[in-house]
Amino acid sequence: MATQPVDSQCIFCRIARREIPSSLVYATDDAVAFLDIQPITPGHLLVIPVGHYATLAETPPTVLSALAAELPFLSRGLMQALDAPALNVFCNNGSEAGQVVRHVHFHLVPRRSDDGLIRHVEGRPQAADQRGEICNRIIAALQR
Ligand code: AMP
Ligand code: ZN
Repeated sequence: MATQPVDSQCIFCRIARREIPSSLVYATDDAVAFLDIQPITPGHLLVIPVGHYATLAETPPTVLSALAAELPFLSRGLMQALDAPALNVFCNNGSEAGQVVRHVHFHLVPRRSDDGLIRHVEGRPQAADQRGEICNRIIAALQR
């Protein structure tokens, strides 16, 4: 197994390395899943790679593939355990997007019709020319 990058100051690295306690529910050589200490709903899970990568953009595709491959299995188990018919999966990247812990992670949040949360963040209508301009900027940025 290749050596995984680690940040000794990172709380999620410390959880992955079992240096501090967590409500761990699942672990492989590549991924760890544990309960969020401040859950949005009961069962709110965090799924992290064992290796330290700050954000999604910095995570090697192979590491992300191994992590993403665990999500269907974990989703099924979580929904069954919490008797939840639905689930939100999200990944905050950067402080402006709400990221607090700079070790990439997916939130898995079980959802129920009576959980009192908003269904989703509403979008706003956008003019077609503005959409077209943004579309072109993204296409240009994605040129390899
Ligand atoms: P984010 O805002 O996307 O960086 O999410 C970080 C999440 O980590 C928050 O939901 C916190 O409640 C959670 N968290 C922080 N420290 C711990 C910890 N020691 N054990 C479990 N969850 C934690
Ligand atoms: Zn880390």
